Amino acid sequence: MSVGLAISRQTKGLIRKLAVKNAFDYGSARENPILAKVLSREPGLKAEMKSLRTEIERIVAEVNALPRPDLEREYGSHAAEFESEQEEKAERSARHNFSVEGAEVGKFVTRFPPEPGGYMHIGHSKPLFIEDALRQAYDGKLMLYFDDTNPDNERQEFVDAFKRDLEWLGVAFDGEYYASDSIPLLYGHAGSMIKKGMAYVCTCSSEKIKEGRAEGKGCEHKEQDPGQNLKLWSEMLGEEHGDGGAVLRLNSNMSALNTVMRDPTLFRTKRARHYRQGDKYHVWPTYDFCTPVIDSIRGITDVLRSKEYELRDELYFAVLGALGLRKPRITSFSRLEIANNITSKRKIRQMIADKLVQGYSDPRLVTISALRRRGITANAIREFALSFGMGKSESVADLAALLNLNKKIIEPIARHLSFIDDPVPVHVANAEGIELSLRLNPYQDIGYRRYMLNGHFFINASDSKRLKKGDTVRFKDAFSVAVISVGDGVEAECVGSGSGNMVVVPWIAESGAVRCELLHIGNLMEGERFNDRSITRTHGYAEGYASSLVGGEIVKFERKGFFRLDGKADMSFISV
Ligand SMILES: [Zn+2]
Repeated sequence: MSVGLAISRQTKGLIRKLAVKNAFDYGSARENPILAKVLSREPGLKAEMKSLRTEIERIVAEVNALPRPDLEREYGSHAAEFESEQEEKAERSARHNFSVEGAEVGKFVTRFPPEPGGYMHIGHSKPLFIEDALRQAYDGKLMLYFDDTNPDNERQEFVDAFKRDLEWLGVAFDGEYYASDSIPLLYGHAGSMIKKGMAYVCTCSSEKIKEGRAEGKGCEHKEQDPGQNLKLWSEMLGEEHGDGGAVLRLNSNMSALNTVMRDPTLFRTKRARHYRQGDKYHVWPTYDFCTPVIDSIRGITDVLRSKEYELRDELYFAVLGALGLRKPRITSFSRLEIANNITSKRKIRQMIADKLVQGYSDPRLVTISALRRRGITANAIREFALSFGMGKSESVADLAALLNLNKKIIEPIARHLSFIDDPVPVHVANAEGIELSLRLNPYQDIGYRRYMLNGHFFINASDSKRLKKGDTVRFKDAFSVAVISVGDGVEAECVGSGSGNMVVVPWIAESGAVRCELLHIGNLMEGERFNDRSITRTHGYAEGYASSLVGGEIVKFERKGFFRLDGKADMSFISV
């Protein structure tokens, strides 16, 4: 229970300093920015909103009345401190300065290359926002490239979901294309590599190919001449080989130190209906072949990718070298991973199949659609993704950092409402007919909710247990109440606005109270194991205003935190 405390001398000093800086920088000090800064440093003061506001109003008025020379003198006494704060700010923005060595303004083209084999997740957001930042820095272009040459995994549903999420994240593209639309062209390039003796058709089993790579030994097919390979390639494109019956391999070096270079597969056979190409093809290029070729012919100057691919850089350039195609520049950075969660497409698919989570938008996941459903804003995701910069040092990020960034964004705009977990009825005599207007947000003027009271209320059981006959307490933001009796319910009477330090009791009007379900989201995983308690549910009553909320709105329930209305029909909320 919050008991009114005076604002400390230290806090008053902080308010004074902030007001002086504000007045010096802008001509006069304003209350709201100071309130926001004080609360960000001392969140505990949220319980003392009223006294804090009064104190800020008083100090701001004092500072605004100072003659300019006095203001300058006072500013001067804090100047060193203000400067170091300024430097820190500059340093922070320098860390956010994204650049690529050698890139030129007006000549920068990059692409965001998702495979439509699942939903977009937080891990994708890092390359995406880095690419977007670089596009801005170099006045360049950002293309959307669907890397879709695995017919087994890919679906139109995933293409649509990516586009929806990208639009929601606020990233627009300068063009869009699909790897699978370039298959005939890729076949042509394969043919020219075969003619030059740089690729061969291999019909070894996948086990044998694996063994050969491990031992650094080539198979008999490596010795075939280009004529034989061309014939086998045209058989492969025809109907001669079933699934996995033949592959086209780069004629490279089977004893290369970089094992990626041990005659990697460029094309494989796979008979499966493709979501975009239907049954047109059964020979599909691998990522290692189609990506460099398509990047080059599409005019990409810069490839940004996570450093897991670094060993494949040599292969990327070898394919382009063999074809005599222009080579884009590759820049690598560390991948964004989230502690106690998963971003692997395969693992997410498995969890959905095992019914551990309910689809790609389950709020425990870190897909973009799950984060959106959880009330995470696009701006918070952008800020979070960019906060890691372009460095290569490995780090597993904590989702709490994203949630904190998000709270700073939603706090000033969310409606603050009362919520009672375990309701105990209270009858307050003399409260009939009182009309109350309550602010929807303590920091910003975003309007009011109004109640015509009938004397019947709910308070929390935990609060009612502490009441006894003769107590006078304050109904939060309303009036003072004298307790007459405490039993199954509480009988009390309104004793006016009152003053002084009093126990503050949250309440809601009984009439119109809305029964709600709150879903609390915890970590999806506990290390390698699924967390059985990743969702917990509680029930309770929100004040009547809640019935006017529409799905998707974010509120702050007093003592509970931020929630997003997920299901209007059953008034179910998800913790933000
Ligand atoms: Zn072979």
